[in-house]
Amino acid sequence: MGKLLNEFKDFAMKGNVVDMAIGVVIGGAFGAIVSSVVEDLITPLIGAIFGQPDFSHITLGPIALGNFINAVVNFLIIAICLFAVVKAINKMKKPAPAPKAARVCPFCKSEIADDATRCPHCTSELAK
Ligand SMILES: [Zn+2]
Repeated sequence: MGKLLNEFKDFAMKGNVVDMAIGVVIGGAFGAIVSSVVEDLITPLIGAIFGQPDFSHITLGPIALGNFINAVVNFLIIAICLFAVVKAINKMKKPAPAPKAARVCPFCKSEIADDATRCPHCTSELAK
């Protein structure tokens, strides 16, 4: 039982699980913002320009086709908004500078600071 508990602790405390949990929470909060933008800003705007789109009265016999069309239209609006947001974010992001290869001590092959004159690992003196 203790082994199982330890295994579970290892699993739950893994960095990527915690990262994922943060991602899910932030994603949820972000989703609320997106749906608010769509419901409170975009949909009324579209409604003001083209008239409130509402297909919910369309039925095909017992099939509520209109509700499905509403869901599809909502999805398309959200997808277009998200696409615009992602495009804007990508534009704002500066291309990250390529990471420079770390300097390595010629004696012990450990990573050292760029301007080190003595290796902190093997204490060899280094030519600058
Ligand atoms: Zn060294």
